[in-house]
Amino acid sequence: MGSYSHLENVAAADLLRWAIETFEERFAVATSMQKGGMILLDLASRTGLPFRAFTLDTGRLPAETHTMIETVRQRYGVSVEVVTPDRAEITAMVAEHGQDLFRDSVEMRHLCCNVRKVRPFERKLREFDAWATGLRRRQGRTRAAVAKVAESNGRLKLAPIADWSPQQVDAYMIENDVPLHPLYAKGYTSIGCAPCTRAIIQGEDERAGRWWWEVDAKKECGIHFAPDCSDGAFI
Ligand code: SF4
Repeated sequence: MGSYSHLENVAAADLLRWAIETFEERFAVATSMQKGGMILLDLASRTGLPFRAFTLDTGRLPAETHTMIETVRQRYGVSVEVVTPDRAEITAMVAEHGQDLFRDSVEMRHLCCNVRKVRPFERKLREFDAWATGLRRRQGRTRAAVAKVAESNGRLKLAPIADWSPQQVDAYMIENDVPLHPLYAKGYTSIGCAPCTRAIIQGEDERAGRWWWEVDAKKECGIHFAPDCSDGAFI
């Protein structure tokens, strides 16, 4: 693998087609059913090529996210692969720290995200040489430098819509009638686990509703960026 800066100006649809054709079943779209991931599913389906997609079921997702998995199957004919945490790791964590340990401290929140999100995500990524995410630079300061294509832990991480504005996202969703996660209609702008996500207040950062009780901590779980250091892709 080498430099991929020449792909920085490639359109999202073309980048996805390239990845699907190049890596076939060793490529997947990762989606949490938010707008970005849904746009990737829509763009990928428009290639007319078979492709894989996966999502993470942490065990604490809102019911609406589960509904979206079925919506995707009906709309795109894509059976999203559902990745779950290791049952023994969950049992041990809850036995020692309780079900809602993330309220106790930032460290406990990181532990919960690590067990429920990061570790299962890493295990799933071993099946792929390349994967795509709906990350965008304007989602917040932690994401401002996201590259469209980057090498990370021996595989390619694509962020085909990294340079899209919120207006572009919404326009694409409307023009293409992309299924919208129901919680957006309730004021959510970023959607994760139910107990750790709330609607935002006007003027707040797009990811302000994630772990809103943490004042200075980064609004990251560790899948894309380490939540406790100043920079660097975690995966
Ligand atoms: S978002 Fe909350 S419930 Fe979900 S894994 Fe992280 S700390 Fe745990």
